Amino acid sequence: MVALRGVHKYFGHLHVLKGIDLDIHKGEVCVLIGPSGSGKSTVLRCINQLEEISAGRIYLDGELLGLSETPAPTGGLLRKWYQRTGALTGHDTVLRHLPDKAVSSQRERIGMVFQRFNLFPHKTALQNVMEAPVHVSRTPLAQARTQALELLDRVGLADRVNHYPAQLSGGQQQRVAIARALAMNPDLMLFDEPTSALDPELVGEVLQVMKDLAREGMTMVVVTHEIGFAREVGHNVAFMDGGQIVEMGKPAEVLDDPQEARTREFISKVL
Ligand code: ATP
Ligand code: MG
Repeated sequence: MVALRGVHKYFGHLHVLKGIDLDIHKGEVCVLIGPSGSGKSTVLRCINQLEEISAGRIYLDGELLGLSETPAPTGGLLRKWYQRTGALTGHDTVLRHLPDKAVSSQRERIGMVFQRFNLFPHKTALQNVMEAPVHVSRTPLAQARTQALELLDRVGLADRVNHYPAQLSGGQQQRVAIARALAMNPDLMLFDEPTSALDPELVGEVLQVMKDLAREGMTMVVVTHEIGFAREVGHNVAFMDGGQIVEMGKPAEVLDDPQEARTREFISKVL
C-alpha cells in the first residue's frame, strides 16, 4: 500500500532522513517509535507531501508520489540537458515534479491527525468535519452532513455535533480531528503523536477510536509513545534513531526482544 524506497530528506545541510525503506501493507498498522528529533514526524510529512523528499521514492498503491517518471529521450541535446540538471536518474527515465493539482489529489487519499488538534475554532464539530468534503471535493451539503454525522457518531460524539472546539475537551477535539480526517475517505491514515498533548485521563478514549479504526481494516502509520497501543494493534513497530530505521519487526520482537543496543536503551526509558 505504501512503500518508501531509499528516502532521504535534507533541511539545508541537515540530513534528517538517511535512506528510509519502509513497507506498510493494506489493512496494517505500522507504529513508529524513537527519540525526539529522530525523524518520525518528517517521515509522516514526506508521505503526506507536506515536505518534498530530497532523494528516493514513495509509492502509494504502486503510484509514485509527487513525481512522474517518463521515458528519457534516447539521445541529442535534450538528453544532455536532463543529464546536466540531474533529472535523469537511471538510463531510461526522467523524473519530473507533479503539478500542484495532482499533488493535491494524491494528498486527499491520505488523512493526517496531529498532536495539536488544529480544528477551525469558529466552526462547530459538524462544520469542521463537513469542511473538506464540501469545499475540496464539492460533495453536496446534505450528503456531506449525513456523512459527517455518521463519522461523529462513530467517534462517540453524536451528542456534541453543534459544539465549538472551545466547548470540547482535548480528547473530544482530537476525536473530531479524526472524524474530519476520515471525511475524505482516505486510503491511509497518518497519526503524529495524537495523544501526547492530552491529559492522561483523555488518552484512552482517543486510543479506543484508533483501535476501532484499525480493527475495521484502516491502513495506518502511527507515531506514538503509547507502547500498549503498539503492542495491541501494531502489525509492525519500527524504531527510528538519527534519521534511520534501526530495527523493525512485530511488536513482540521489537518491544520485548530488541536486537539493537539503541532500541533496548530507548525502550527501557519509555516503558
Ligand atoms: P519529536 O519526537 O520531537 O517529535 P521527531 O522524531 O518527530 O521528533 P522530526 O520532527 O522529524 O523528529 O525532526 C527531525 C529533525 O529534523 C530534527 O533535528 C528537527 O530539528 C529537524 N527538522 C524538522 N523539521 C524541520 C524544518 N522544517 N526545518 C529544519 N529542520 C527541521
Ligand atoms: Mg515529531
